[in-house]
Amino acid sequence: MQLLKDRIKKDGKIRAGNVLKVDSFLNHQMDIELFGEIGKEFKKRFADCEVTKILTIEASGIGIACVAAQYFEVPVVFAKKNQTKNIAGDVYTGKVESFTHGRVYDIIVAKEFLKAEDKVLIIDDFLANGNALLGLAKLVKDAGASLVGAGIVIEKGFQEGGALVRASGVRVESLAIIESMNEDSGVVFRD
Ligand code: 5GP
Repeated sequence: MQLLKDRIKKDGKIRAGNVLKVDSFLNHQMDIELFGEIGKEFKKRFADCEVTKILTIEASGIGIACVAAQYFEVPVVFAKKNQTKNIAGDVYTGKVESFTHGRVYDIIVAKEFLKAEDKVLIIDDFLANGNALLGLAKLVKDAGASLVGAGIVIEKGFQEGGALVRASGVRVESLAIIESMNEDSGVVFRD
């Protein structure tokens, strides 16, 4: 998606440890006009699929998922990263190792919001090592629901997640795939 690639080139900041900061338009301040274009693109790429629910993970996936959901006209469920008092009763759980924070946390979704008849599209901001995506895919599997695929805004193609998740049989549509990035040459995209 050229608009997104141009924006990453213009405003993305490369940080130590293979981290791309996109805080000015995606992860902190959010460019809702761009989110609208991202949502439309996800809808186009998954036009052949029936989707009944979008699943994401807090926090940075939520904004993107909500805007995209307007094009799919389905509810958004976000996996919570910690058990909180306002989630009562039965939950699906998983463990995810955070790429950016380097620790393992629990993710949960209440069983009432993920049903066996659901056709789930996962949406997230980044795909790096694939832990977040595989954790979300496990929740879908545990619910007995169908996983339609995953829509990712930025895939870091030089990390293993994309290959890993695709090898597990999940359809992944990434709007920008980074082939390499470093301070000297900047961001280089695949294609
Ligand atoms: P994974 O589980 O695939 O290793 O990493 C995915 C999650 O880590 C995403 O939900 C995202 O929040 C975060 N993440 C991974 N790499 C980056 C990065 O380069 N920049 C930012 N801002 N977040 C990242």
